[in-house]
Order: sequence, then C-alpha cells, then structure tokens
Amino acid sequence: MSSNLAGSREATVPTRVDAVIVGAGFSGLYMLHKLRETGLNAVVLEAGDGVGGTWYWNRYPGARVDVEGFDYSYSFSADLQEWEWSERYPAQPELLRYLDHVADRFGLRRDIRLSTRVTSAHYDEAATLWTVCTERGQAYRATWCVMATGCLSSAQLPAIDGIGDFAGEWFHTAHWPVGGVDFTGKRVAVIGTGSSGIQSIPIIAEQAARLTVFQRTAAFAIPARNRDLEPGELDELKAHYPELRDRARHGIVGMSRIAEGSTSALDATADQRQQVFEEIWAAGTLSGLTTSYRDVMTDRTVNDQVADFVRGKIREIVDDPDTAERLCPRGYPFGAKRPCLHTGYYATYNRDNVRLVDVSENPIERLSARGVVVGGTEHEVDAIVFATGFDAMTGSLAAIDIRGRSGRTLRDKWSAGPITYLGLQSAGFPNLFLVAGPGSPSVLTNMVMSIEQHVEWIADCIGYARERGVVAVEATERAERDWVHHVNDVSNALLYSEASTWYLGANVPGKPRVFMPYAGGLGAYRKRCDAVAAAGYDGFVLTAG
Ligand code: NAP
Repeated sequence: MSSNLAGSREATVPTRVDAVIVGAGFSGLYMLHKLRETGLNAVVLEAGDGVGGTWYWNRYPGARVDVEGFDYSYSFSADLQEWEWSERYPAQPELLRYLDHVADRFGLRRDIRLSTRVTSAHYDEAATLWTVCTERGQAYRATWCVMATGCLSSAQLPAIDGIGDFAGEWFHTAHWPVGGVDFTGKRVAVIGTGSSGIQSIPIIAEQAARLTVFQRTAAFAIPARNRDLEPGELDELKAHYPELRDRARHGIVGMSRIAEGSTSALDATADQRQQVFEEIWAAGTLSGLTTSYRDVMTDRTVNDQVADFVRGKIREIVDDPDTAERLCPRGYPFGAKRPCLHTGYYATYNRDNVRLVDVSENPIERLSARGVVVGGTEHEVDAIVFATGFDAMTGSLAAIDIRGRSGRTLRDKWSAGPITYLGLQSAGFPNLFLVAGPGSPSVLTNMVMSIEQHVEWIADCIGYARERGVVAVEATERAERDWVHHVNDVSNALLYSEASTWYLGANVPGKPRVFMPYAGGLGAYRKRCDAVAAAGYDGFVLTAG
C-alpha cells in the first residue's frame, strides 16, 4: 500500500466515474473512445508505464505481429487510414508507435492513468456500483466496469526448480527490458518454441556466441515472407478499404485477404492439394493452410496432409537430418496448437553456433548456478530467455480480486473453467464486461477485428441501457450455460482438443482443461451477438433503476 498521504486520501475518497476500463491496449483505448462517444465519463487504469498492452510489454528481439498490418489495425475510423505501415508484418516498435498515435489522435491520454495496477473490483449490489481499487491505494466507483485486460498478458514462468539459483541474467519475452538486451559474445539459452521463441531465436542466434534452444514440443511454423511495403501498395488496399474491412469483419478469422476454402481436400487430387499448399507457403500467411480447405480442422486425414507438407518443408530447409526430425512437429494435429509465422527460424539451425536440445522426453530437471540441467547434463549459459508463454485468457482476470453479487469471486465461479455468455459477461457480475473474454472468438482470429466487435457491442449495450434508465445488465445463468455448451460442441467437432495447448489451459499446472475460445468463426459469432442485441439483449436481465 502507498505510504504517501495523497494515495491514502484517494483510497478513502473514491473517484466517481461512469465507467472504469482496465487496460490500455487495443481494447482499452477503443473502449474509452467509444464510451466517450456514448456520453460516458470513463477512466482507463493501466499497469504499464505507457499505453499499448501486448505491444508495450512484448519487446523481445523479433517481436512482430503475424497478421498483416493493414488488417491488424483499427477499422472504426477513416482518419486512421492516415497511418502508413512500413512492413507487411509490422514489428513491435511500429505497433507501439501506432497505438501511441491513436491515443494522441483521439485525445485519450487525459483519461488514462498509467502505472496503475488494478487489484480488486467489487460490486455493491445496493448501489449498483463497482468499486475498483489499485495497487497505489486509489479507488474508483463506477456503474460499468470493462475488463480490457488482454488474452495473453499474464506471463508464465515454467515450474522448473532452481530459477533462483541461476547466477546469470534471465528474461521473459513478455517482460523484456525497455532498452533491449545485448547478447553479443554470450552463451544464451532459449526455453520455449512457441510464437515468441520462434520469432526471437533467429535474432538472438545472430548476436550470441552460442545459442541453445530447449524444445519440448515442436511447432508448425510457416515463413512470414515479411518485407517492406512497396510505395503505393497500401494506397491500393485503401482504395478498396470498405470492401476489405467488411470481408475481415464477417469472415472466419477476421482477415481481409485470407481465402476461406469451401471445398474438401479429399475432393482434390494430390497434385492439386500440393499446388494449393505451395501457393500458401509461398504467400506467407498464418491462417492460409488452416482455411485452405473446409475440412483441415475437422478431418484428421486432411489435417495429416497439411502436417506432412510442413514437415517436408522443414526437412528441405534444415541440413542436419537428425535436427530436422526433431524440429518436425508430431503427435498433434496441425493448427490445434497455434501455428507460428517465422522469419528464418528453421534455417537458424544450420548455423554452427546453434544447438537444439529436445526436452520432450527428458524434461529440464532444474536450473543450476551455471545453466540448464537436462538428463544429468549441465548446459552452461550466461543468459536464459524464457519464451514460455502465458496463463492465457483467464490469467489476467484471476490476478484481480473480482467479486460480484453476494461477494462471490470470479475465481471461485470459474474454478472448473471459465463460464460466460458470449465471452462478454458472466452471471452474477452485473455491468462487468469482458473484451475478448473466454467463450468469444478472440485468439482464434485477428484480435483487432474481434476487439472492435466486442467494444462496439458493449458500448451499444451500455448506451441502450442508459437510454432506458437501466442500471444493471446481467447475463442469465441459463444463457451462459447454453452458450458454454455451444462453445464446447463447436470445439469438440474440431481437432483442437487433440493437443495440449494454452487454448485448453494445459500449460498452467492445475488449470482446468477447458477449450476457452469460441471456434465458430468471427462472422457467425458477430451475427449471434447482433441478434441478441436486436432482441433487446436476449439472455440478459436488464434492471431499471
Ligand atoms: P506459447 O505458445 O505458450 O509457447 C511457450 C513455449 O514454452 C512452448 O514451446 C512450451 O512447450 C514451452 N515451455 C513451457 N514450459 C516449459 C518447460 N518447463 N520446459 C520446456 N519448455 C517449456 O507462448 P508464446 O510463444 O509466448 O506465444 C503465446 C501466444 O501469444 C501465441 O500462441 C500467440 O497467440 C501469441 N503471440 C503472437 C505473436 C505474434 O503475433 N507475432 C508473437 C508471440 C506470441 P509446450 O508446447 O510443450 O508446452
């Protein structure tokens, strides 16, 4: 608790606002803008020292988005077309500059409190108000509370013994030092080969004297074919702006130029399939292979054809056959674990200073003062990079003491897995909205498109309530039960559950295994949300003041 007088005074005199928004990433910034448009007095509370969310924290070498910049940007304002992306897949510094630009463009900063970590949010039933408290001892009272806390913002260190024993430096990719890290001349270990590991490994390999990669599960990675945008290329896209954006909003994955195959791969000849896969490989897109045919994620035979294709590519690139085999993903379907987009990842293993240590069967035993111990062998290093991911989708919410009606905690309610209606609300927590919450398409799509859809829906809902003197909006238990069943039915019909992934919470010891995102596609989900709103917020109870 803060020892300064102002801080403690703030704690006893809560600031009254219409809405508190937690988080100043893509979600929180747009939520603030929309709530202002709706006529609310809102404040954003952000733990970081700057805006940007994911793009504020994840500054590791090679961090870049794996959705094209044109798509991975707000579509709500024609003014923002002024932003000129320099690369096809923009890197973290450019994304952060973009979000800073958005904050300035819409004058958002005056209502954003930085370095302000939220610790609790409690609902006062009698007053129909949320009290939101911060680590600094401030309190806010608000009718509406929006958790814009991000799906991948609670970084995970692995449960490996001896982290405290390691005498060198160590870093987590999601908490990278602002000034960067110089690995020149150092022996470096990277633990983890998900998106963060796969992006950082080629860059670290160029700098370090020696790089040892500890891989537990090999990932399917597709070449990004990132490049600078040609002069006029963005203008060409902007000339078709409404049409492209519309396609992204109503498509499965929220991207404007990803072909969504409507035919079965089983109806194609081997040559035809090979040609389709080759074209997608050459184009460099994250979702292209998954959506190439309609049955990649439903039919294991088709899925194996995609997986074999990628394994073939890995063998072509990696010189050492043994290393190539170890880099070939096996034992789970393509796409069931989020695929990665890479730049030079597989070729990195052709370098003399890079070694791959497979820890799939022999897990890392512990860290010692000098390095990483596997199977009794100590791999000596000067620095360790943990690219070990996140307590996804629920971690950042569980970190806040959220209490709804009758003082029930969200942690308790979600102890067997998250329960939401549309990923937007949970019964018993009136007026608490989640942006990209579990049960919504979120991480299976271009996040920015999903975020915009949620923010607009939430703002419309709040506007609707205010116009009618409604003081509390709350999902019903029945609506959320039906929705959770539907989310499960959809994912059970796909191949997702055949892999141990963060989608299922499998990367966090003790976390219940529940497939968290909604796999029905953004377009279909949007229609469902629109229908709910059009029916006067079907599945919600609206209580007049
Ligand atoms: P991740 O995909 O969860 O990868 C974590 C890695 O650490 C996995 O390879 C995991 O192995 C490994 N690991 C964890 N504990 C370990 C242990 N005890 N020993 C050995 N290995 C261990 O995390 P991430 O790479 O940070 O990516 C998370 C998500 O963030 C991505 O899927 C993506 O959605 C998003 N992301 C996006 C971008 C982008 O847009 N460019 C970049 C980075 C991240 P197992 O697989 O065996 O658990």
